[in-house]
Amino acid sequence: MPIGKVAIVGAGTMGSGIAQTFASHGHAVVLADLKEDLLARGMDAIRRSLARLVKKGALPAAEAEKVVGRIAPATALAEARDAGLAVEAATEDAAVKREIFRSLDRILPKEAILASNTSSISITSLAAATGRPAKVVGMHFFNPVPVMKLVEVIRGEQTSEETVRTVLDLAKALGKTPVEVRDFPGFVSNRVLMPMINEAVYALMEGVADRDGIDAVMRLGMNHPMGPLALADLIGLDVCLGILEVLQRDLGDPKYRPCPLLRRMVAAGKLGMKTGRGFYDYLKKDG
Ligand code: NAD
Repeated sequence: MPIGKVAIVGAGTMGSGIAQTFASHGHAVVLADLKEDLLARGMDAIRRSLARLVKKGALPAAEAEKVVGRIAPATALAEARDAGLAVEAATEDAAVKREIFRSLDRILPKEAILASNTSSISITSLAAATGRPAKVVGMHFFNPVPVMKLVEVIRGEQTSEETVRTVLDLAKALGKTPVEVRDFPGFVSNRVLMPMINEAVYALMEGVADRDGIDAVMRLGMNHPMGPLALADLIGLDVCLGILEVLQRDLGDPKYRPCPLLRRMVAAGKLGMKTGRGFYDYLKKDG
């Protein structure tokens, strides 16, 4: 079945980027969130992102208008009843996501694919909340979605070959490079990235080097575009801690234990860029 209309659940950072990406490739999109003001914020983010492309000469202004015109904001999931695919990008909370999957299973046509953009929750457990586990899959985009090429396509325990194939092809049609991954905690991206960030925080706590030194080693020696401490600030220290806790709990290996300094900073509300302070100070000009 051709995918056609796509429902995106959650109009936050990721949902708005995913909606923009599908609409830019000709799909009609229903963008759902809990309240009108959250939808307005998501639509604003999409308009700003498209305006930047127009300003750079990468997109004609008339095309930007068309992209926005393909996205219908909605506070009711029922608007998605004729969608061929749903991508859930709501808050990273297993109970919230399971409830959304139950609703999507009730509302969408029985042949529709239900995908989640979760960073760390088991696709197999979300599939179990539905009556169509063969049609449930992970579609893990990266921020900012319109720019980042990677999509991890996660195969749950019961995901069918056909569903995986359809989603791999779809990601390519969106101009992305999909990588197929099995349903293990943190998939590949966070399984590898988070221990590196955590180790950088341990190195800082133990005084192996200072903040700038640790980031410089990884930038200049490993050719990473940004150091792990700056990257942790960008992701959000609370998000990093949450993912490390999932890795530690679900893999049961103490090597994933979150660094006490990371816990202390989250407890102090130093969450990184979004709160103005993390390993760097974003309220001061010189960081
Ligand atoms: P966000 O907080 O910016 O947005 C989440 C949105 O979901 C909010 O607007 C919230 O109102 C909405 N929401 C919550 N419950 C809902 C419901 N029942 N129905 C409809 N909408 C609901 O979060 P985000 O950063 O966009 O992350 C969304 C998902 O994407 C999470 O699972 C996260 O792990 C994953 N993810 C995030 C990133 C990132 O860099 N931010 C990268 C990859 C994956």
